[in-house]
Amino acid sequence: MDLKGMIREIQDFPKEGINFKDITTILKDGAAFTYVIDKLAAQLEDLEVDVIVGPEARGFIVGTPVAYKLGKAFVPIRKPGKLPAETVKYEYELEYGTDALEVHKDAIKPGQRVAILDDLLATGGTVLATAKLIEELGGTVVSLNFLIELTFLRGRETLKDYQVKTLVSYN
Ligand code: 5GP
Repeated sequence: MDLKGMIREIQDFPKEGINFKDITTILKDGAAFTYVIDKLAAQLEDLEVDVIVGPEARGFIVGTPVAYKLGKAFVPIRKPGKLPAETVKYEYELEYGTDALEVHKDAIKPGQRVAILDDLLATGGTVLATAKLIEELGGTVVSLNFLIELTFLRGRETLKDYQVKTLVSYN
């Protein structure tokens, strides 16, 4: 399946100089969406994963169907103030300013094996913050899986302590 040919590229979105990779063109094609989920799930088959974790919002889109397919749990990671119960927060640096992500304190049991899924790996900041949250709760991050990798942003260097797998890369 020619996934790259199906991913729409939008110049200067959300701001000038960014060539945004739009995955909605895959999602609206049932065969392509199924293919992507099956491939992501297959990458996790031998890892004895207990929980799939996905950061909002597109991490939910790829993460929940993979969790369902594997018969595993799903835990959402959200921007501050969105989760209703007690949370832990991780703050991280952006080019300008900081950002933060939260997870429910009781979402992961110590020792659980976790795979983090998201649609796209750019700098790796989002998923590194997600991994730190999981580790703070006592989980073990066994795999980071993405549909798309922008290799020129060197996310793999940021995520060098983890196993990283992607389906499509842009150099
Ligand atoms: P990072 O934290 O690795 O720099 O950025 C990755 C996060 O930003 C992911 O959660 C992803 O959804 C979002 N993102 C950044 N650029 C793009 C893009 O071009 N296309 C899509 N679909 N998501 C992007």
